[in-house]
Amino acid sequence: QEMKHSQIRKKKLKVALITGGASGLGESTARLFLKHGAKVLIADVQDELGQSLRKELGTLDIITYIHCDVTCEMNVQNAVDLAVSRYGKLDIMFNNAGISGVGGLRAIDSDGDSFKKVLDVNVVGGFFGAKLAAQVIVPVRKGCILFTASVASLLCVSVAHAYTTSKHAIVGLAKSLSVELGEYGIRVNCISPHAVATPMLLNWLVTSEKRKIEEIVLRNGVLKGTILEAADIAQAALFLASDEAKYVSGVNLPVDGAYTVNN
Ligand code: NAD
Repeated sequence: QEMKHSQIRKKKLKVALITGGASGLGESTARLFLKHGAKVLIADVQDELGQSLRKELGTLDIITYIHCDVTCEMNVQNAVDLAVSRYGKLDIMFNNAGISGVGGLRAIDSDGDSFKKVLDVNVVGGFFGAKLAAQVIVPVRKGCILFTASVASLLCVSVAHAYTTSKHAIVGLAKSLSVELGEYGIRVNCISPHAVATPMLLNWLVTSEKRKIEEIVLRNGVLKGTILEAADIAQAALFLASDEAKYVSGVNLPVDGAYTVNN
């Protein structure tokens, strides 16, 4: 009886791999998932930040940091393997790592390299994460894959053509995967936040003709005069990753205070 009880409890625990988990939305999601009893593997290229976050958040039996450049398939494979070897399985793959590209660069002035770089991280990186996670989730027939897209997946963000392209593309990938993987019990969804004050956004504002954060704060809707916080996005990720969302798949969920319906 005692053993049965512990087996049932064990099953409930989730294992999540979060790319870009050392900062911003990924970090906030790692904190929230841990609070809800998940075991979390943070994968990022900012090793110092990732290691110190790992130490702050807990011991290796619940949280791990691994160096992982999502553009390198072998790095992503190592991260997936570590989740399975250390925590026994992988339930949630959060493909969240992303870069904004050079702010203010117009397509007509671009040499193409920065365009390729943004697509490599934001799209190819997400593809590796989804593919390699699916390979370990398919045999157990239960799990989910999440992507951080952006309002730039639904409309155009000015002077960010590569970013806008990449975020539209990742939604196309997520839709395709939701169909391909649905029969194996794998749900695939996107979250599309409006601006959140993270290092990525702040850096982009500095390079894109020195725009200020106040300029992108929404002037109407429920976000009037405020800016989203990373924790708001983490809550959306928590829902989409939870069993309560068991029939939610193929969705691109805006977290934008109605910005995209009003623009
Ligand atoms: P952030 O810079 O705080 O975090 C992104 C993390 O991704 C960083 O820790 C960075 O080191 C990591 N990363 C970058 N390239 C990587 C690579 N090749 N391999 C592994 N990790 C890599 O920024 P954020 O705002 O938290 O961004 C997270 C996601 O949210 C991104 O996909 C971004 O496009 C998206 N997003 C952000 C906003 C916003 O306003 N901040 C809005 C919509 C969508």
